Amino acid sequence: MLIFVLNAGSSSLKYQLINAQTSELKASGVVERIGIDGILKHVVSKNKKLTIEAFIPSHKEAIELILETLTHDETKTINSIDEIQAIGHRVAHGGEFFKGSTIVNEKVIKKIEELIPLAPLHNPANILGMKICMDLMPNIPNVAVFDTAFHQTMPEVHFLFPVPHEDYTEHHLRKYGFHGTSHSYVSNEAIKLLNNKKNSRIIVCHLGNGSSICAIKDGKSINTSMGLTPLGGLMMGTRSGDIDAGVIPYLMDRKNMDTHQIIDYLNKKSGILGVSGISSDLREIISAANEGDQRASVTIDMMCNRVRKYVCAYAGLLGGVDAICFTAGIGENSTLIREKVCFNLEFMGIELDDEKNQLKSSGNIEINKKSSKTKIFVIPTNEELVIAKDTYNLVK
Ligand code: AMP
Repeated sequence: MLIFVLNAGSSSLKYQLINAQTSELKASGVVERIGIDGILKHVVSKNKKLTIEAFIPSHKEAIELILETLTHDETKTINSIDEIQAIGHRVAHGGEFFKGSTIVNEKVIKKIEELIPLAPLHNPANILGMKICMDLMPNIPNVAVFDTAFHQTMPEVHFLFPVPHEDYTEHHLRKYGFHGTSHSYVSNEAIKLLNNKKNSRIIVCHLGNGSSICAIKDGKSINTSMGLTPLGGLMMGTRSGDIDAGVIPYLMDRKNMDTHQIIDYLNKKSGILGVSGISSDLREIISAANEGDQRASVTIDMMCNRVRKYVCAYAGLLGGVDAICFTAGIGENSTLIREKVCFNLEFMGIELDDEKNQLKSSGNIEINKKSSKTKIFVIPTNEELVIAKDTYNLVK
């Protein structure tokens, strides 16, 4: 069954066309700078790519362009749009209402709209994507797959914030967690690699431009580092992650910032970019550190120390760890970061094999020493495949 997977952002659209039964990726691409100028980058295979630069006024024109491209002579993947049998949408926030993926109907859209205050940047774009698809392809079912749903198994003791309880009951203030499809996919792969061990205890480190960690017991999320919003937890590309909340009024006073400015500061100007003053791209920071830039070295160590802090805390929560998994851009590719995260954790039974850590692979690999009590895996994430499979399971 061919599934069109759509991840709609405020000015961009990422998409994949996937055969959900065989997991085969038929085509993928991204439309960027919608409403500004516009560029579509479409990939069918290594030798079959297409870039279109043209003004793309809105998401509707962007989706129309993607659908044309899928049937276009040069980059033809399908003969007609009718070959798409379902559409899977990535949705940022499902609140406490959505505990799993669901078929989209008017009621579901209304509910996702009600959750906009929890994800003001993302949910509106996700809803727009759904509405346009329903309009352009009225006979094809749509499924919403939520970034938060996997974490709905977190117990109250982990999701409540230490603030007056009525703000949870009246204003839904709590930890939700994100990257759910990634944590779900990677932990499932790890459980398979552990020969379906019962009562498995897994820590997934999703380290990319956005990063989060998740403690997973017997396949269920019990705690995760992101919070009410994706600003919580680890130090990220441009996001601060956890900081003393007192920093916020202090800075607002000292620098005369309003709410919008402080949100921008913590989300877009902090993290790796803010500390290094160089870039949000970790590769550039590693290069600078190799050339002797002290601040770049401190940036790397700050980032890794925060990961280590969570790994140790979650190992305690889980009562031990069967596997630590590294995934996403940094987790999958950076031998240095994996080395620094695992450094000195032998006392917990975590022993990295330095040679295996250097291995390059496009699939899952084990990089721990034979003597290590805890397995250490590199597992490339595949969020789109989870969305395609969930969509298939709901509509088949
Ligand atoms: P993602 O958001 O998952 O695409 O991850 C993007 C991040 O991965 C960026 O900070 C990249 O610099 C980082 N990244 C990708 N490849 C490497 C690498 N070989 N070494 C270090 N960081 C990398």
